Amino acid sequence: MKNLYNTKKTKKLDDLELRVYTSRLLGSDDSLVLHGGGNTSVKIGGTLYVKGSGWDLATIEKEGFSPTKTIDLIMLLEHERLSDSDMVKYQKEALIDKSAPNPSVEAILHALIPYKFVDHTHADAMVTISNTNRGEELIEEIYEGYLIIPYVMPGFLLAKIVYNMTDGIEWENIKGIILHNHGIFTFANDAKESYDNMIDAVNLAERYIRKAKKQKTHDLNKIQELISEAKGYEVTLKVNQSKIAKQFATKEDMTLSQQGVLTPEHIIRTKRVPIIFEDDYEKELNNYIKAYHDYFERHYIDSEIMLNPAPNWAVLRDFGTISFGKDEKEASIIEDINNHTMKAMINAKKLGGYKSINEEQSFYMEYWELEQMKLK
Ligand SMILES: [Zn+2]
Repeated sequence: MKNLYNTKKTKKLDDLELRVYTSRLLGSDDSLVLHGGGNTSVKIGGTLYVKGSGWDLATIEKEGFSPTKTIDLIMLLEHERLSDSDMVKYQKEALIDKSAPNPSVEAILHALIPYKFVDHTHADAMVTISNTNRGEELIEEIYEGYLIIPYVMPGFLLAKIVYNMTDGIEWENIKGIILHNHGIFTFANDAKESYDNMIDAVNLAERYIRKAKKQKTHDLNKIQELISEAKGYEVTLKVNQSKIAKQFATKEDMTLSQQGVLTPEHIIRTKRVPIIFEDDYEKELNNYIKAYHDYFERHYIDSEIMLNPAPNWAVLRDFGTISFGKDEKEASIIEDINNHTMKAMINAKKLGGYKSINEEQSFYMEYWELEQMKLK
């Protein structure tokens, strides 16, 4: 999303004119607000000029901002509850100019935020991510340093929850407020900065979506089918798309996975190495199984019986990792081990390179009688 702020156009503007200018910038982009959605405000002295209902940010004028007594709105937060009609009534009472339009339903929240300029949009990109099955997790990941609010009805309830959640916190440590399934608030004492903060916040989400679109897709059903067939029983998949798993699945770091276990006992759970799935799963699985046979042949001594040669976990190129278990519990154990191993491998790379025990040592561990007994 492009930042449209033009400093040449704003040189001579006063605070309320600046408020009109950046409100229109926000309103002009329908991926930020649609048809009268969103609202903005500016505090001048003890007065909050907040978007009046019936006005559209795209075309708003100075008269579109309702002047209200900031303190009167903040005082409303003393109420435990407030019906919509009471809120509207009290907000009207807080109006300095009684002929001005009714203040926005978010006026109390605007009053509460201790900055001169406050901007609020319903940015498509951010709500798209919030409205997904993994919304909570993704928003946490994308919006580090922001205050993240679970969904509540806009209006008094929303203002109240923000009021409670910000009790005793340092506002300067908050980059903005993310409202799940709803939108974004940004703020600053400078009109441009508040607008810039909004564009930056939206860009975090837009960038994330662009990256996800480019992300490779994998056929997990096909993988489950192939591994189950190779194992001789129906496997449970545990998909890991954490930051570290995704990093591990990049072309750059993928081969790290082929360098052996973090500590010997892991080998009975994870095998020495995972399979890497890129495109041709069948061929990749055949190669893995063949390589496992070769490994067994190379180190076999006499009485060992070959374990099932199918992999216990997989790195899926540009996607993440998957652990295979006979049930949920086993898959989770394998995933836990992988999480630690991946982190260690990535850190070890920075320390000069990862180096595990060698293949022969791995084999002795994997086929050590005592370890084989554990499995039984
Ligand atoms: Zn809203």
